[in-house]
Amino acid sequence: MAIVMSVNAGSSSLKFQVYEMPEEKVLAKGLVERIGLNDGVFSITVDGQKYTTTCDIPDHEAAVRMLVDALLEHHVVNSLDDIKAVGHRIVHGGEFYSDSVEASTDAVEKVEECIPLAPLHNPAGLVGYKSFSKLLPDASQTFVFDTAFHQTMPAENFIYPIPYEYYEEDKIRRYGFHGTSHKYLTQRYAEITGKKPEDVQIITCHLGNGGSITAVKDGKSFKTSMGLTPLAGIEMGTRSGDIDPAIPGVLMQRHNLTAQEVDNILNKKSGLLGVSGVSSDSRDIENAAKEGNERAKLASKIFDDRVIETVGGYYALMGGADAILFAGGIGENSITTREAIIDGLAALGVKLDHEANNCRGKEVKISADDSSMDVYVIPTDEEVMIARDAYKNLAAE
Ligand code: AMP
Repeated sequence: MAIVMSVNAGSSSLKFQVYEMPEEKVLAKGLVERIGLNDGVFSITVDGQKYTTTCDIPDHEAAVRMLVDALLEHHVVNSLDDIKAVGHRIVHGGEFYSDSVEASTDAVEKVEECIPLAPLHNPAGLVGYKSFSKLLPDASQTFVFDTAFHQTMPAENFIYPIPYEYYEEDKIRRYGFHGTSHKYLTQRYAEITGKKPEDVQIITCHLGNGGSITAVKDGKSFKTSMGLTPLAGIEMGTRSGDIDPAIPGVLMQRHNLTAQEVDNILNKKSGLLGVSGVSSDSRDIENAAKEGNERAKLASKIFDDRVIETVGGYYALMGGADAILFAGGIGENSITTREAIIDGLAALGVKLDHEANNCRGKEVKISADDSSMDVYVIPTDEEVMIARDAYKNLAAE
């Protein structure tokens, strides 16, 4: 038995979950927000009870100190030595990693090398790691990459049709993200159906504020909708997803914008928010659409259609699939979105069991008995995947 932490550090936030492994029992979880800003917020939930503190939290190290103090205070651990391993979510592992890895000096250098590919995310992951290794010098530290699961894609699915030297020199290619979630869904589907992982042919739809779809062939990522960056693919809360690649140039010329300003528009002001003018949150869009807001209806229709064409395309590319899986805030909770997507895929013979689909946040099969493919809602669990890999590395030490 060992206490293991799963950590997801952002530039001004840090999400954590504390497990007893290998039982995978959650002992505590929480979030530190507004790190480096005034009025930082620290919250921790232990035994269903949430405790929140508001105070200035100058940096990640201070956040980690608050976190370990809280674990002691609430008797989650008796001493810091009880925490045997920490797993860190790292967004980009480039072409270096197809699996999680011990956070060695070499691994830190490689994550640093990938900073140009994830300029906001990788530095945050490293700051989180450095803070934990300072406060818990004896704990085993593991990097778990968003990109790792997708490293199995064949070249035709990751090379962009631009001059090949940009791949060779600048590593411009499709990487894909949300890999930890797509991998969890793949493993869980294999468990549910009793299939061997290598026999799994599915299409996993992680639909949240950010969203990506993956074709999983023989249990491995075969193609995924995000690309060099998480801006690619389907329409998202504030991200455009795929658009005509000439649009940024046109916007820069017409409005005298810099590349960074256009990047900001496509990442922060587009998607559901940009089209609807209402909100980036799919619940607000659903409500506005119900009240007759035409642009909210349009944003929602574009979202559904992008998912339909991606799933349909992947189905053909893989030569068929056994199941479609839904996860993420929208995939797990939006009954109407799942309905619109599955109805839109009727040409593939897939059919919904409307009664079974009337659920939120639960693991359930929602396809009709005479459906050509099974359809499942599977609440994703990236935190447990991080804890599992951290525990695996600890056991291997
Ligand atoms: P995530 O990024 O995975 O946390 O997902 C966030 C998205 O999930 C937002 O667009 C939310 O509107 C959506 N979401 C969360 N709960 C619900 C719900 N009960 N019904 C519809 N959408 C939901």
